[in-house]
Formats: sequence, structure tokens, C-alpha cells
Amino acid sequence: MTLSLRQHRDEVGLTDGQLLVNGAWRPAADGATWSHRHPATGEVIGEFPVATGSDVDDAVRAARAAFDGWANSRATTRIQVLHRFAELLRDHAPELRAVQALDNGVPLSFSSGIYATSVGAAADVFDHHAGWVDKVGGQTLPPYQGGDHLAMTFREPIGVVAAILPWNAPFLLFAQKLAPALGAGCTVVLKPSEFASFTVLRMVALLAEAGLPDGVVNVVTGPGTPTGEALITHPGVDKVSFTGSRAVGRRIVEASAATLKRVSLELGGKSPTLVFPDAPDVGLAAMTTMGTVTMGLSGQACVAHTRALVHRDVYDQFVTAAQLMAGLITYGDPFEPGTTSSPLINERQLARVLGFIERGQAAGARLVCGGERADGDLAAGNFVRPAVFADVDNGMEIAREEVFGPVLAVVPFTDEDEAVALANDTDYGLGAGVYTADARRAFRLARRIRAGTVGINGFQVEPHLPFGGFKQSGLGREGGRGAFEAYTELKTVLMPLTDELM
Ligand code: NAD
Repeated sequence: MTLSLRQHRDEVGLTDGQLLVNGAWRPAADGATWSHRHPATGEVIGEFPVATGSDVDDAVRAARAAFDGWANSRATTRIQVLHRFAELLRDHAPELRAVQALDNGVPLSFSSGIYATSVGAAADVFDHHAGWVDKVGGQTLPPYQGGDHLAMTFREPIGVVAAILPWNAPFLLFAQKLAPALGAGCTVVLKPSEFASFTVLRMVALLAEAGLPDGVVNVVTGPGTPTGEALITHPGVDKVSFTGSRAVGRRIVEASAATLKRVSLELGGKSPTLVFPDAPDVGLAAMTTMGTVTMGLSGQACVAHTRALVHRDVYDQFVTAAQLMAGLITYGDPFEPGTTSSPLINERQLARVLGFIERGQAAGARLVCGGERADGDLAAGNFVRPAVFADVDNGMEIAREEVFGPVLAVVPFTDEDEAVALANDTDYGLGAGVYTADARRAFRLARRIRAGTVGINGFQVEPHLPFGGFKQSGLGREGGRGAFEAYTELKTVLMPLTDELM
């Protein structure tokens, strides 16, 4: 029987989406819409407006008009809104997970069981940033030239923020942008991905319930062109906070030049896992690494450890265990508890991943398992069986490019120096993993690997820790005090207290 998700759409009460401008839901000015096709079935799940220049302009103006009031609101007002919203997210978690399953196909088994991309993690991020609201400020410094004058710094909200989200982890990424932006006193125009808009629209609807004033968060739906382009080129936007692909990140940096917008970017990765013969459990290291490229998002995760660098002494053992993990993956209805993993998000991504697999084989890498499309009941969906490539050379395309699919490239190494050289031989620098029982080696490697986050014998996401990339994996960090400060400008104020220095 062919898979269908229509019944879940009715259960969740999903209706077509709208834009949110100054507290009012409305269609696009020109009436254009986008039909969202589910990646597991190809069915149209719903429609939402495609915002064009005039809609984006309305949204930016609404955010600007709301700025003074929100920026100057009492700290307790902002703290309470963030905490209330965190509670509303927790209360609405089952419904939000269901809407997400209808958007990007992430199975409920994953969204309810794995913290990193859960509604609970998003709620924790709001609670975390609420704590900075009355603590992030400037300094009073001693006058450098002596004499009697005051030298002070203040932190003030940047202004209107364009927050642009990808489709793969809408709960967490919504929170990583909106919580610090709102906490700092900025107003926002939010653009969800066209492949996960319903989830974001549901979350935004809860903001008003949390007490957020109209116009502080506005939403423009639609694809990169025209909607995203209209937003990143709008002169009224002070900062663009973006999570997504490196290609679009580059375009945002280019577009920011016209008005010198502030930019923060969370981009892709080709993160290595380094496995040594003394790893506490080589099989578990392989299962965990393969898990990051198969479980839940099917490798469509920025921090997936898609490049396993494995010592030659344990290479075969690692490859066998990774293959075992591949065999545990089940595709199907994301609402079924037995479904472990999602389809690829769209047909473009399906063709792209299949192309990487084909070229990997042509380049001489050994395909140990998977790599083909799922057939039968799943033929209408964008499913690719998890692939393990062995005997990979780090110069091959499958070891260099972000595949964003269920594909692991396993590269052999002989000693620690070679492992570090391979780990750092990449344009990216988002994450890395080190598996060894030798604590000194673990820390030595953690220091030598050029990546934003290094996990030793495991990896997890924490809402209060900085997260982001070295090199072409991004600009700036999300999480922690630095992330909050990234939504502020630093102002210096000087005042002589006598006539002497005037
Ligand atoms: P994408 O870059 O295609 O799209 C991201 C967002 O940008 C979407 O909302 C899209 O509509 C918008 N967009 C596209 N073109 C635009 C343009 N010209 N101007 C403005 N906006 C535009 O990425 P995706 O496929 O949604 O997500 C996958 C990518 O995101 C991967 O590269 C992944 O590694 C990255 N990612 C990074 C992190 C991180 O924290 N570092 C987290 C999740 C995903």
C-alpha cells in the first residue's frame, strides 16, 4: 500500500499558512502561494504565501516601528515573555512534533527521543537567554589619561534582525535566533524555510500568547527567491542571522555589503570522527558515527560526523559495525514509532545525493552497503538506503563536500599526526569527534583540530554552550553570552567631570 499522510494533516488541524505583519495574519500582496509537497509521499500538505518585495517591506517597517518600544521595555517584560514562551513550547510539544513530521518528515521517534533537535531543547534555549536579559551590559573603565572623567560602555540592541532558517531543525534554530534577539531588545523579520514553514508558523502563533507585542516578530514565508532575497537586500535590516548552506551564506555576505549589515552565519560541515585503536568501544564509536548520518535526519544535519578517520588496526571492525548500524534504519510513516529516519527533503536533494554516491564509486571508493533508492511502498518518497563508503581518499569529492544525506566516508590513517592532518584538510570546521581512552591524547587532539565543537568519546548539543564553525562553517556562535551580545552594538560614552579635559 502506498504511504499517505493526509489523515495526520486532519488530526493536527493543519490549515494553509499566512504571513504575519504587525500582529495581523494575511496573504501575500500579489496572492502568490507555495505548495508544500511531503518528502515521504509527494503529497501536497498545504500552501502558504510567497512574500515578495512589498510584503517584506511591510514586515521590515512593522519591525522598525515596534523597535523603540521593545528595546526600551522593562527587563522583566522580556524575561517573562521568554520564560512564558518556553513553557508554551513544552505544553505544545506533541502538536509541534506532529506538524514538523508533516513539514520535513522527521519521525516522531526521533523528535521525541533525541534532545538536540527537540522542542524541549528549544524551550531550554529560551530559558537560558532569558537569564542574560538583565546581566549583559557595558563596563565603567578607569580613564586612561588620568584626570577626572567617566569612560563607559553600553550594550544596545542592534535593531531589526532578519532571521533566516533552514528546514532541518526548526525548533532549535528558531530558538537559537529568536531567544537572544528578543532578549537583547531587537525586533525580527523571520523567514522560515519553504520546506518547514508550518512548524515555524505554529511556534510564532504561540509568541502572542506569551505576551509578545505586535510587530516585534513578523513572518515572511516563501523560497530564497523572491522572499529571502528581498529580505537580505532590504536597507531597513540591521543584521542578518542565517543558518543554512554555504552557498547562500556567501550570497548573504555579498548582499550585506551594500548597507554593511551585521551578519552571523551557521553553515555546513564535513565533520571528522577520529577513531584510535584504544577507543573504549570501537563498535560503539562506529554505531554512533553512522547514527549521526542515518538516525532521524538521515544525515541532513550540519554536525553529522560524515567523515570517519579510522586507524588501520581497527578499520575493518569499524566498517563492519557502521554497516550493522545502516541495517537498523527503517523508513516509512514518520508517525509510526518504528520509523527511525526521514526522507531527503526534496527531489533536488535526492538527485544530488545519488550523484555523490555514483561519483564516489566512479572515483574508486568501495561502496560497502546502501546507496540505492528505496522502492515498493516507499517509491514515491525521497528515500536513499544508508551508504557506507570504505577505502576513501580524503581528496575524493565524498570526503570533501557536504553530501547532506545518509552517506559515511571512512578514511584510514596510520598515526596521530596523519589523523590530525586529515581532520584539518577540509574547508569546513563545524564539529569533530575523538575516540580514545588516552585522556592526554584526547585533549591534545581537541586543541589541534580546527573545529567549533570537539566531542571526546561522544557528542551532545547543550543549549548554553557556544555552537558554530571555524573556517567556511560560519561566522559567529549561537548559545551562551557571546550569542546574546551578537544582537547588541557596543557604545562608548565619555564625560569629563571637570573643565580640565575639554
Ligand atoms: P539553504 O541554504 O538552501 O536554505 C536556508 C534558508 O535560506 C531557507 O530559508 C531558504 O529559503 C533561504 N534562502 C535560499 N536562498 C536565499 C537567498 N538568495 N537569500 C536569502 N535566503 C535564501 O539550506 P537548507 O537546505 O535549508 O539547509 C541545509 C543547510 O543548512 C546545510 O548546509 C546545513 O549544514 C546547514 N545547517 C547548518 C546548521 C548550523 O548550525 N551550522 C544547522 C542546520 C543546518
